[in-house]
Amino acid sequence: MRGDPLVTRAMPHGAALVIGGGIAGMRAAIDLADAGVQVHLIERTPTLGGKMDYLDTTFPTQNCTLCRSTSAHGVGCPRPSIAPYFLEHLQRPEIHVHTLTELVALDGEAGAFTATVRHHPRYVDVGRCTACGDCRAACPVELPDDYNAGLTRRRAIDRPSPQAIPRAYVLSPTPTCTTCRRCVEVCPTQAIDLSQQPRDEALAVGAVIVATGYRVHNADEDAELGHGRYANVLTGLELERLLSGPGPTCGSLRRPSDGREPRRVAFLQCVGSRDQKHAYCSSVCCMYALKEAMLVKDRIPAAQCEIFLMDMRTFNKGHIETLERAQGSYGVALTHCRISGLKEDPASRDVLVRYVGEDGALHEKPFDLVVLSTGLDPAAGAAGLFTRLGIEANPHGFCAVDRLAPWHTSRPGIYACGAAVEPQDIPESVTQASAAAAEVAQALRSGRPVTPPAPQPPAPERDVAGEPPRIGVFVCHCGAEIDATLDVARLMQVAQGMDGVIYA
Ligand SMILES: Cc1cc2nc3c(=O)[nH]c(=O)nc-3n(C[C@H](O)[C@H](O)[C@H](O)COP(=O)(O)OP(=O)(O)OC[C@H]3O[C@@H](n4cnc5c(N)ncnc54)[C@H](O)[C@@H]3O)c2cc1C
Ligand code: SF4
Ligand code: SF4
Repeated sequence: MRGDPLVTRAMPHGAALVIGGGIAGMRAAIDLADAGVQVHLIERTPTLGGKMDYLDTTFPTQNCTLCRSTSAHGVGCPRPSIAPYFLEHLQRPEIHVHTLTELVALDGEAGAFTATVRHHPRYVDVGRCTACGDCRAACPVELPDDYNAGLTRRRAIDRPSPQAIPRAYVLSPTPTCTTCRRCVEVCPTQAIDLSQQPRDEALAVGAVIVATGYRVHNADEDAELGHGRYANVLTGLELERLLSGPGPTCGSLRRPSDGREPRRVAFLQCVGSRDQKHAYCSSVCCMYALKEAMLVKDRIPAAQCEIFLMDMRTFNKGHIETLERAQGSYGVALTHCRISGLKEDPASRDVLVRYVGEDGALHEKPFDLVVLSTGLDPAAGAAGLFTRLGIEANPHGFCAVDRLAPWHTSRPGIYACGAAVEPQDIPESVTQASAAAAEVAQALRSGRPVTPPAPQPPAPERDVAGEPPRIGVFVCHCGAEIDATLDVARLMQVAQGMDGVIYA
């Protein structure tokens, strides 16, 4: 697509702009920082993480997105965890994170762009906020919590998510704020400034990486499926929140209508994919439905999980094994069919799934809970962003890229990666992000400082030789798996009595 290879040009600006702070954008930023490139990472929401921040575990390994925080994972690992990415961002001096920030304009050319970005007010100084939560406790205004898919409430000043990076709170102004000001009065570090205004800034960068990801298909558009009308019809992302330890029910799965444990759970595939409006496969939904069905069985072993689908698309490394595990070890059933629609039983609030089976006949089956495996649409505002960047979109609205180098966009100096390019899973997104970052680092080589930035001095160390050991024992209890195998309370009791253990 791009005839003139950028790698042959010297770039005067030794800095890059990464747009989008999801897993792909973070991966690209870390790789660039490793290569000594200064990176401006702009993210339009108040926190880094993208959709991965919402997930309980990730396929194909079912690993927790939070716990795998050792440096052996995440960086260069095809099964990345979000935690090291977050930690890296806190520590890397080359990465300049700008949350609540969007691109307004891009002028210049490859090697010498001027990116005008707009910083929207957070009303909380990130450098001062200690995340103590005093403001939250004082705030009288409650709003639906988007992080938990509106299933819980948050305060007008709150933390965007439990593991949000930056750790600072964010204020969503409401009419009450003009007279209330309680948070301003209680904040012990004077971090809150209600007078903040949007601010534009010009950044000199040699290259741009677009990592703006996707938007989850809005299931309310499919009226026959009843999402938003039937309490027990959820999307896959809403189920992720219900299954999550820090989620609205602390990971215990309950029916929204009556708080009962669901025993019959249906998953409907290709909602917003492979239909007349979306002539593409969303690529991740078969795998996330299998993952979620197994998570349901982990929480409620007696539950029956049935996936209604056209065909099962498990094509990457480790995916077929996931399918075999789901069917073999977990007893997840697959029913090949075409869905006709859903109906709610007004008395029980059960959901009737109507479908045309392989026998050509119409069937109807009741379920306690129905999960819609919604597809991946282009990110909100993607078309406008691509216009501002001067790059082409493909016929589906994702970023158009070269078929042989799928991180090259239609404009020299601008690259793309992750789900901004097409629906793809996390391993594919980070692989593509690394490819884009490698090419940008090579292209910017002449603009970078000859010597890498001076390393940060390590924190002073104390010689503890000869002192008694001080051992801490920490056991994760956020999921059902460890609790099911170990008596964690008893384990901690035993650990507390052991030599040298000062905390358990
Ligand atoms: C229910 C569900 C479960 C899933 N489970 C798994 C799983 O188990 N394993 C797996 O591998 N994959 C899974 N996926 C897919 C996974 O979410 C994606 O592969 C991954 O999030 C792609 O990362 P990304 O960084 O490209 O995009 P995103 O996660 O979408 O991040 C993009 C970021 O860019 C920001 N952004 C967008 N536009 C702009 C703009 N104009 N300016 C600035 N910032 C912008 C967004 O706010 C966001 O933070 C799942 C998807 C769903 C829907
Ligand atoms: S000023 Fe607004 S955010 Fe602060 S406490 Fe009052 S209502 Fe809450
Ligand atoms: S804004 Fe102030 S009160 Fe609120 S969490 Fe931050 S430091 Fe605490």
